[in-house]
Amino acid sequence: MARIPSITVEQIKNRADVLEIVSDVVQLKQRGRNYFGLCPFHEEKTPSFSVNPSMGIFHCFGCGKGGNAITFVMEHENIDYVEALKRLAERYGIQIEWEKGADDFQKGETALLYEIHEIARDYYQKQLYSSKGKRSLDYLESRGFDKNTLQQFSVGFALDEWDGLYSQIDVKRFNSKVLEKSGLFIKSKDKNRFLDRFRNRIMFPICNVSGRVVAFGGRTMDPDEDAKYMNSPETPIYFKSGTLYGLEHSKTAIQLEKEVVLVEGYTDFLRFYSSGIKNVVAGSGTALNFHHARALKRFTTRTVLCYDGDEAGQKATERSGFILLKEGFDVRAVQLPADDDPDSYLKNKGIEAFQKLQQEAPGFIDHYIRNHQADLKTPASKTRFVETLISEISEVKNPVTRDFIVKEVAEKLNLREERIFSQIRRVYQQKRRGAEAGNGNKSSGISELQIVTATDKAEFELSKLILTDFEDIVGFITSKVPLKVYKHSVITPIAKELYKRVRENQAITPASLFDRDWSDQEKLYLSRLILDAESLPEHLNEQDLMKLAIDCMTVLMTDQLGKSIKELRTKIKEAEKSDADTEPLVLELSQLQKKRHEIRSKLRDIKIG
Ligand SMILES: [Zn+2]
Repeated sequence: MARIPSITVEQIKNRADVLEIVSDVVQLKQRGRNYFGLCPFHEEKTPSFSVNPSMGIFHCFGCGKGGNAITFVMEHENIDYVEALKRLAERYGIQIEWEKGADDFQKGETALLYEIHEIARDYYQKQLYSSKGKRSLDYLESRGFDKNTLQQFSVGFALDEWDGLYSQIDVKRFNSKVLEKSGLFIKSKDKNRFLDRFRNRIMFPICNVSGRVVAFGGRTMDPDEDAKYMNSPETPIYFKSGTLYGLEHSKTAIQLEKEVVLVEGYTDFLRFYSSGIKNVVAGSGTALNFHHARALKRFTTRTVLCYDGDEAGQKATERSGFILLKEGFDVRAVQLPADDDPDSYLKNKGIEAFQKLQQEAPGFIDHYIRNHQADLKTPASKTRFVETLISEISEVKNPVTRDFIVKEVAEKLNLREERIFSQIRRVYQQKRRGAEAGNGNKSSGISELQIVTATDKAEFELSKLILTDFEDIVGFITSKVPLKVYKHSVITPIAKELYKRVRENQAITPASLFDRDWSDQEKLYLSRLILDAESLPEHLNEQDLMKLAIDCMTVLMTDQLGKSIKELRTKIKEAEKSDADTEPLVLELSQLQKKRHEIRSKLRDIKIG
């Protein structure tokens, strides 16, 4: 396996600007030295996601995700480290001269998952053109899909066999953990065997935005099968909510047209794309949600929804329409005849008829009101309708967009704007009250630091101080506070790394700290430490901080002694009760107390400043 030379990695790291990269997907507002915005990794209404460009890091106070520019690209695009480097190199025009080396056995799990999907794609594709796949190919061709399109999108066929794909896998290279995580297999009942998940299905490879296969959607060829479509489950490389079918092919066209047509199914997508409407994407295995919206936002903020003409399609249009509106999209909706889906409409009526529909497509609010005329007939039903609508509008983030929508609703429903605004304010108040009540009993979870005891706090503060620019303090802590006194399960490994870097005279730049393979918990603590170190109150000088360091050190160094002293006291009491000899215990106690006293006074005597 080829490798990126370390000098190129450095180049990429130096060039990759976290603010610029995050800004592509998150709207950021400056506050002091930091920038804040809505977190792209969890759903939230008030910004708790921050970027510190001078340190080159990001951190979310809500879900705890944190890291540098490379981590951000990995997390957001759901790709591995090397892929992220490649992406950034491309972005900044840095040439990668691949080095030979590092064998396949060293490959990370992610790389193996990508690879096994490539094997699956090639295998399924080959089967479509085999004799056993003929019926599927005939079916696709009878529906008007030509070979070019099928090949361009690597459409394939999974045989009606339990081990079709499995027989293609070199189990020496792909261990059972990888097979299980790939989502391509299911374990047999006796757990001893892997069986193909997809059987007798037309297979549509689903790619991430950089074009790597991450999952499959399969359409059954069995008329008795209940599940017409089946998708890969979520896996380490397949984040359903962030993946849109076809985007890797259509992104350029979307940027060019400054608009995207959203359809529901794979065949809808293929029909549009092959008919020349290339600025199109489809969902993949799950209803459109705000993650999808944000993934799209990188390319455009104008959408045309084009779902099935039936009632289910209408419901989906409404749901998606509101999500997109809330995320700041300009949304229009095409209404197809009730017995048409986008695929059938385009196939039967032709591209011009569709383009006319598309051009004349009303704005989403207009479309929504038109479709709900029945709800406007009685005052009671109209009130209910307006309430639902206002509750949706109140979640539109951009106030300018919201004002526009309110104007439109007022005009169409013959209401006073002020009435709608006051109702929106009421919704906000209710939500705020609900949120406050909800926060009261929220405690654990990844987003919370577990700093409970005095030693937890001391370890946190010391690690934070190592991250400051005060060399004397950093030197003092790393030379005088032994690592073995750290006990916190998350802070300890971080402290180890910090000590190591200080001792080896390595730079402790915040962004570089994230280059290690930290766990999510560790990343959470690390980014909090970095941010806290950066925002130490201005009035604290070096002496104050040294004092803080010594206090923390005292807590840690005497903690074990304190515990032993407590235990001894209990033992002495018990001994007294049973009339046993307490003398050796009392002696031990006084020794421990003396030792504690010595440590305390020794630490107190350290000259500060
Ligand atoms: Zn978050």
